[in-house]
Amino acid sequence: MAYSYEAPVSQSLFDRASVVTPGGVNSPVRAFRAVGGTPRFMVSGTGPYLTDADGREYVDLVCSWGPMILGHSHPEVIAAVQEAVSRGTSFGTPGEGEVALAEEIVARIEPVEQVRLVSSGTEATMSAIRLARGFTGRAKVVKFAGCYHGHVDALLAAAGSGLATFGLPDTPGVTGATAGDTVVLPYNDLDAVRAAFAAHPGEIACVITEASPGNMGVVPPAEGFNAGLKELCAADGALYISDEVMTGFRTSKAGWYGIDGIRPDLMTFGKVMGGGFPAAAFGGRADVMAHLAPAGPVYQAGTLSGNPVATAAGFAQLRLLDDAAYAKIDAVSAELRSLVGDAFTKEGVAHTVSSASNMFSVFFTDEPVRNYEDAKQQEAFRFTAFFHSMLEQGVYLPPSAFESWFVSTAHDERAIERIAAALPAAARAASEATA
Ligand code: PLP
Repeated sequence: MAYSYEAPVSQSLFDRASVVTPGGVNSPVRAFRAVGGTPRFMVSGTGPYLTDADGREYVDLVCSWGPMILGHSHPEVIAAVQEAVSRGTSFGTPGEGEVALAEEIVARIEPVEQVRLVSSGTEATMSAIRLARGFTGRAKVVKFAGCYHGHVDALLAAAGSGLATFGLPDTPGVTGATAGDTVVLPYNDLDAVRAAFAAHPGEIACVITEASPGNMGVVPPAEGFNAGLKELCAADGALYISDEVMTGFRTSKAGWYGIDGIRPDLMTFGKVMGGGFPAAAFGGRADVMAHLAPAGPVYQAGTLSGNPVATAAGFAQLRLLDDAAYAKIDAVSAELRSLVGDAFTKEGVAHTVSSASNMFSVFFTDEPVRNYEDAKQQEAFRFTAFFHSMLEQGVYLPPSAFESWFVSTAHDERAIERIAAALPAAARAASEATA
């Protein structure tokens, strides 16, 4: 596909980066491989806008993949960071900021009786499954195809979905032994989970699931799915781990738990709770958390865990996320979903705007999408044309058809009007695209 617009400064930065960094990026999806073209190197962000190294401004619908729920450079978050940083950047000792952030998480999310802070969502899920294994004395982990829990070895196994199929390593570097303890099942299929428990009674340490998946595009849990997982885990003595790294503090004040009310044994968080800094967490039942070092024998640690600058940013951001903020984000999301749906309908493009609270994405199919297999049936090539038309018109979407779009409280009428103005041509480009 040829692109009619250029980004020479981003291109030269990407050329430099590609010499010193594999693929030119520090996280693969940033490289635009799924859509082609030059990844934009951003230099600043204000409210709903990002500015790239070529001086072009974009309405941002990625929001750093979720964290920037108040928009970029929110004055109160910046002030909290500046105040924290003026006192020093890391002490390697306990500090009050991490207590305040932990108290805020515990106050918001009732099943979280205790919480441990870490630096990334990957660390949170990795530590949660280690704790589940240590607590239960069992080895196997059940996960669902299409759910992403970070690049934890045991959770990268996504192949071999089917009844009680052992996962195969999905990436070189993950050993068969590691992946062999992972059972990968189709999402939204409780019968498959029942069969896995029947095949491995007393062997499954935990079932980990995205509370509402956003990493195969947005595919919400079917009615009763999360409740069924909880029930099956409880019956077998396995732990139910709800990964709220993406949904936590975004889909409601108490994340997805605030929506479905199903009580997990352990939960994982990241993104929003760090206010744009590396802060994440896992927490849950106090009797399970008591197994963590130094209270218990399951080791887990981190030089920068509970970092004072990161916790100040996260705390400031969470304190600003009140009912009015969520009402605003929900309203922005609803307006955009309807604008996007109308634009595709007008151009006769088969599509489904799939949403879970204020998270949403577009599937280029009008068939129902209940799991990863369904998601892969969409005409993803249409997304490429749509993405580039939006980018050219100054709207920055996730560079993949399998990612959630994110909005913020800063997406005001001006930003929405700019998106609305870009949609007709982009929907036309999607309709004219060929595989
Ligand atoms: N869990 C979920 C649901 C995620 O969406 C992600 C990242 O996108 C992670 C875990 C991993 O988080 P991180 O990228 O901070 O390691």
